[in-house]
This record gives sequence, C-alpha cells and structure tokens, in this order.
Amino acid sequence: MKRTRIKELLETERRGIHVTAAGWVRTRRDSKGGFSFVEINDGSCLANLQVIAPASLANYADAVLKLHPGASVVAEGVLEASEGGGQAVELKADTLQVLGFSEPVDYPLGKQKINFERLRELPHLRARTNSFGAVARVRHLLAHEVHRFFHDRGFLYVHTPIITASDCEGAGAMFQVTTLDPHAPPRRPDGTVDYDRDFFGRRASLTVSGQLEGETYACAMGDIYTFGPTFRAENSNTRRHLSEFWMIEPEMAFADLEADAELAEAFLRHLFRAVLKHCGADLRFFDQRVLPGVLARLERLAEAPFGRVSYTEAIRLLETSGKSFEFAPFWGMDMQSEHERYLAEEVFKGPVVVTDYPEAIKAFYMRRNDDGRTVAAMDVLLPEVGEIIGGSQREERLEVLSASMRKSGLNPDDYGPYLDLRRYGSVPHAGFGLGFERLVQFCTGMHNIRDVIPYPRAPRLC
Ligand code: ATP
Ligand code: MN
Repeated sequence: MKRTRIKELLETERRGIHVTAAGWVRTRRDSKGGFSFVEINDGSCLANLQVIAPASLANYADAVLKLHPGASVVAEGVLEASEGGGQAVELKADTLQVLGFSEPVDYPLGKQKINFERLRELPHLRARTNSFGAVARVRHLLAHEVHRFFHDRGFLYVHTPIITASDCEGAGAMFQVTTLDPHAPPRRPDGTVDYDRDFFGRRASLTVSGQLEGETYACAMGDIYTFGPTFRAENSNTRRHLSEFWMIEPEMAFADLEADAELAEAFLRHLFRAVLKHCGADLRFFDQRVLPGVLARLERLAEAPFGRVSYTEAIRLLETSGKSFEFAPFWGMDMQSEHERYLAEEVFKGPVVVTDYPEAIKAFYMRRNDDGRTVAAMDVLLPEVGEIIGGSQREERLEVLSASMRKSGLNPDDYGPYLDLRRYGSVPHAGFGLGFERLVQFCTGMHNIRDVIPYPRAPRLC
C-alpha cells in the first residue's frame, strides 16, 4: 500500500492526481445525492481529509454505510478541488477499503464531547483526538528543535544513565531500583537490608537529574547536553509535577552564570520561534479551544528581551510591592509560584532571570559567591507559569565544595569521582535544567502537565 499523508494532500497545489490516503474515520455524513462524506484523519496534521464515497462503490451498502468514528480505511481516487466550503480539496474515492470497523456503542471517542480527565483514563486512544494529536505534534517538534539548537552550537548530546547510585540533589525523593524480594530481603547481622546482595551490589535508584554525569563530560568535551527521562518520587499532586518527566540539561565548561543565563535566553527564544514557525495550525487550535491568548503570548515572548534581577533585589521588589501575598516575602525564603508570577507578569512583564539565591535554599554544588551568603544560581521565570528553568554555575573549588557537602550532610567520600573533576584540571562551568513537559505545557496552553506526555506517571497513577 503506497499512501500519501493527509498533510501532504492538503498542502499540494496539484489537482486531478490519483492518490491513496489512509486513516481513521472522524465522521460520516450521507447525502441524498447518492454519496457519503467520510472525514478521515491520519495524525499527520490537525485537519481531516474529506473523502467522497459514491453509492456506486461495490461495498457502499455493506461497508461504507457501516463506517463509524474510529474505523480505519484506505481510500484511493482522485484529488479534486472541493465544491463545499471548509476545505480546499477532497478525495473522490474509486475504492474505499475498510481495514477495521469500529462500533459506535463501544467507541469512547464518538461525537459526544469528552473532557481531558476522562481522556486520561483512555491513554491508548486519546492521541486520536484533536487536542492530543496536536500535543503530540508540538512535543515532537520541540524535541527535534532542542537537538537542532544544541547541535548547531556545537554541543554534544551525552546519554547519561537512568539507573544511578548517586543522588544529585542530596535529598530523598528517589525511586529505588532493586531485585531483592520486598517481603524477605537479605539482612545484615544488625538487621538492616544487605544491599551487597542486591543486583548492583549496592543501593540504586532512578535518576533525578543527569547533571553530575553531564558535568564530567563537560569537563572533557566542553559543551554538552543531556535530554532524557528523570524520576521524582515526590508526592506532588499538582498540575505542574510528574513522577516521570523529561529534562534537558546543558552543561558548559569555561562558562560562568552570565553565559548560562545567555544560553537559557537564546534557547527558549529559539524554541518559541520554532514552534510558531512549524506548528501554526496546531497553535491556532490551542488558541481557539484550549487557552485563548496562548498564541499571542508565544508571539510576544519569542521577541521579548529577558529581564535580569538578583534574588535580593527581587525580594525587595516583592516586599515593597504593596501586594498581599498568601506567603509574605522575606529574604531567605524559597519563592512561591505567586511571587515568581508577580515578578514576571507585573514587574518585568515578560520572562525574567533571577540570580544569586541564598545558599541555604539551593543545592550543595552551586558556586558560593564572595558575599558568603548567596550562590551563583539562576531561575528563569515565565509569566503565568513561574519557574521553567533552574541552573547555576558549579562550585569548581575543591575545598569550598567539600565544605558545602559536609554542611548539607553529605559525605564527600561518596562523591569521589565528582571531586576528582576539581582535583584534576578544574574549570569554571555552568548549566541548567529545563523540564520538557513544562515547556510543552507553556507552548500549548494545556492546563495539566498530565495532558502533555503520552503516559503520565504521578502518585497513584501508572
Ligand atoms: P519545582 O520547584 O517546580 O518542583 P524544582 O526546583 O524541583 O521545581 P529542579 O530540580 O530545578 O526543579 O528541576 C529543573 C526543572 O525541571 C524545573 O525547572 C522544572 O522545569 C522541571 N521539573 C522539576 N520537577 C518536575 C516535576 N516533578 N515534573 C515536571 N517537571 C519538573
Ligand atoms: Mn521540585
């Protein structure tokens, strides 16, 4: 079967050509004039192809008139200018072969409206809806553009491990990986579980970040990035958190926080422009059906310069704003979403990079500033979503790093390889992490992060 994708058929200027299209039926309408209109979609684009099936088809009564939403068909015939409104072309079928029927009594995606929550219970079918088809295409385009952006700038794509024995943030919230019997694990004489006898001979988990491994490659290859799945066992039931999500983490050697912020700004701008350029029809759909204004927001942000502000100054702006926040701002606090949004939406009226956070609320590996109380960290905040990127310049001084590990309750002996980077030819380096689903959420306007990944994993959802 040689079929042409519907996207291509709808874009071609050619008429009167003989073509074959295949897809799933969205609707069927029977006309008194002796034919049926069958709208089919093949996922290549948002729009359907209208197939005209004349009553003279041999299988018209037995098959065509039994077509319902969800059925799969192959149509071949002539592509012609459409007489009706709504579409430029239509396919006048010479044959319409049914590959698989679909019964309207069972099929959950019939004509009736169905909400996103209900669709989450149908992850195997929801890609057949307009919304999830559009999300899938935008997600693909963004992933592709992530690779293009870094490749064009000479960054190397590094595959960091998914199973790891190190803990990036020095905090819990990791999923353990084990082959021990949970009911009867082997025990040491003192009663604790004997991980020597586990699969890896030690405790292992799913990664929460590829950063530590990314740093080792940056400190040999220069500029690198990772783009892979990350896992967090936090009990966060919010519309912005998943237990399994994809993260993009660039890391640059010979770079400071300023270079890091510049990279983050160029990266986001590239992605916004790319999605506007390549996903026009899908974005218009989101704008009309999901979040009015999402298109204009993207257009604005694709051109907006990013604001810059230090954490200390940002707190001062919050304290003197005269606004009543749910959580009163004070120096030393971890900013809440309401604070981040206020800064981006009302103060800077666009994206803003906040730098130099208090040491106490940031991870041990961030470079200590000379003031002795802040570190060279940055967050990129966007209007309406708040934090989308978190990054930092990394501590490259061996003594300072060992000291902050101890201060965070970590044993430097567990981080031998990480410290080796500071022992042998240490260099200033910096990087950041961008949650891919937060990006897709922002570009599509989808309210819940669970609706921008094909199979969402969250507490009690797998
Ligand atoms: P948050 O405060 O929103 O939980 P975080 O400070 O824990 O985020 P980082 O550890 O800095 O986030 O991770 C880097 C990026 O990964 C974040 O800026 C965000 O875009 C994304 N991210 C973090 N946690 C999640 C999650 N549970 N689900 C989806 N994306 C996430
Ligand atoms: Mn978090």
